[in-house]
Amino acid sequence: MTPEEHRTLREMLGAFSLGHLSGTEEAGIRAHLDGCPDCRRDVADIQPLAHALSLVDPDRVSAVDTPAPDLGERIFAAVAVEREQRHRKTRRRLVLTAAAVVLAVLAVGGVGVAIGEKVAEDPVATTPPAAPIEPVNVTSTVNGPQASAGIVAHAWGVEIKLQAVGLGTGDPYAVVVTTGDGRRHSAGAFVGTGERVMNCNLNSDVLRPDATGFEVIDQTGRAVLTADL
Ligand SMILES: [Zn+2]
Repeated sequence: MTPEEHRTLREMLGAFSLGHLSGTEEAGIRAHLDGCPDCRRDVADIQPLAHALSLVDPDRVSAVDTPAPDLGERIFAAVAVEREQRHRKTRRRLVLTAAAVVLAVLAVGGVGVAIGEKVAEDPVATTPPAAPIEPVNVTSTVNGPQASAGIVAHAWGVEIKLQAVGLGTGDPYAVVVTTGDGRRHSAGAFVGTGERVMNCNLNSDVLRPDATGFEVIDQTGRAVLTADL
């Protein structure tokens, strides 16, 4: 199997875990798993997420702002590719990424599921516990982008942990935090990553009690994602 073929196969592990493959494809993956510890580990990591996704009530999801039907698969594929590229020692980071992925998917569906334990039990964690992340609902004002976010209140200001897909590849976006006096404060900028999941941390000098929301603004000045805090 060439590295390309292997990568393609790993991208299918999400669909596999969600039970979305045909019988032939599934048999192919199972045969490969027998001989590939890396992919077995991927599947073991993905399985709890697949389970969480299976708990999402499709009716409630469609009642909100329908995510693309294959959003879960695309996210898993993106995680698999990222893993392939970044290698091992990023395990903790991947668990966090995966947790963010589930948050993203569930936030889109408006469904809350606690997933904190998976991160907390990570044996590699040697750093002190991170500041609590306050989940935030992000609203898309245009078709395409889907996002969720968490807010961390630091002594120096608010940090926005933004996960998004569907923002124009290579397009510049600015993020501003709004305050009660109607002012907008820069929280940084990024470029869109299209269908690849983007995880981006943005920092502002607005303290949590003063922050009333944030906006992601495209190059035409239009707020494409908004959130109330
Ligand atoms: Zn493999």
